[in-house]
Amino acid sequence: MSTGPAILLIDANPSDRALSQLLLQRELPQASIHVIPDAVALSTALLSGAPDVAIVAADLPWADADAVIAALKERHPRTAIVLFGHGSDLMMRTVDRLLAYDALVQRTSAGFLRLPAVVGEALHRAGRRTGTPSTAIDDRGGAESPRGGNMQDIALVFSHDLQEPVQQIVRLARRAQGSEGHEPARTIRQVLACAERASSMLDGMTEYLTIAELGRPPAPVDLNACLTLALDNLRSIIDEAQADIRTVPLPMSFGDEHQIVHLFQNLISNAIKFRGRERPVIDIGVEPRGEQWLIAVRDNGIGIPRAFTERIFEFGKRLHTREEYPGMGVGLALCRRIVERHGGRIWSEPRDGGGSVFYVLLPGAPAGAASAAHQAVTR
Ligand code: ADP
Repeated sequence: MSTGPAILLIDANPSDRALSQLLLQRELPQASIHVIPDAVALSTALLSGAPDVAIVAADLPWADADAVIAALKERHPRTAIVLFGHGSDLMMRTVDRLLAYDALVQRTSAGFLRLPAVVGEALHRAGRRTGTPSTAIDDRGGAESPRGGNMQDIALVFSHDLQEPVQQIVRLARRAQGSEGHEPARTIRQVLACAERASSMLDGMTEYLTIAELGRPPAPVDLNACLTLALDNLRSIIDEAQADIRTVPLPMSFGDEHQIVHLFQNLISNAIKFRGRERPVIDIGVEPRGEQWLIAVRDNGIGIPRAFTERIFEFGKRLHTREEYPGMGVGLALCRRIVERHGGRIWSEPRDGGGSVFYVLLPGAPAGAASAAHQAVTR
């Protein structure tokens, strides 16, 4: 059970909500953040315990923000209210009802970056311990690398913000394409292709930053559970390719389960995507290497020339065109970052008889942790 401060995040926009949540989680790691996307969730939240802070989007499509604030104030008079919105929404409200909330934050890049500090201040005023961000960040950063800290937040916020103009271009180009009759102008097709590519690059960047950089505190991890989750997530492509996946029981490791699921998922989906003519056969094995586990993911796919086995782990590096195989070249960079954050190593070698092997070194579980964690996952 969490004893940290409770924050309600009331916002109808899914990507804005996700971004606020990530930034808050990072700066206020002990806080429990309850996300309220709709009116039903709000009414349930109003009936539960009092949050310390409520962040209320000024532009809720299903309720007037003033009414939401009034309901919150009535039910939980001590909850601090942070109103979050576009400039014009906020201006109107500032004139109107200056006292209803404790802070205003604009829904801009700078506003997103400021949100955790504003919430932190509100908690501080309310006398809640927030956990000091600096130690929390050091805890999760691990010893292996200095954290980019704010740079990552900035990159994250800007890739989020850039999506809007890019998607606008996609919409405009699609509309223009629709009105051009049967033969869409070549330029519009090109504009559309570029914008779609920019959009998936931004997705890739966001995925990289959120998964690789915003890790959770390390804990014992059951690699079997990670593999099962990864295979569940890939079920449709596994079935479609009729891939034969051979696994062995895997040991306990130590780190961030969410990241390790992504690691398996990326390696297995690549093994399927870069398959040869034959039915994909993917073999997952493990053996001890000192204190660590050496995991091998073997495939019978198209293989990787030895000269390129290093470069494929760089961000954005690919060996094929997008027409041959879709992708942005983010997956293996993400894998490498995840493995490095676990103090391990990842590399690839050609497999005897064709295909590739991806080797991953992951930490062993600390003594005593394994059985407790095993109970936790098999509960
Ligand atoms: P993406 O799959 O988006 O291209 P990745 O970073 O996952 O990006 O992989 C980078 C490149 O490495 C791929 O474009 C591909 O050329 C090569 N690659 C990755 N995994 C495999 C594999 N199992 N077999 C053959 N080539 C692979």
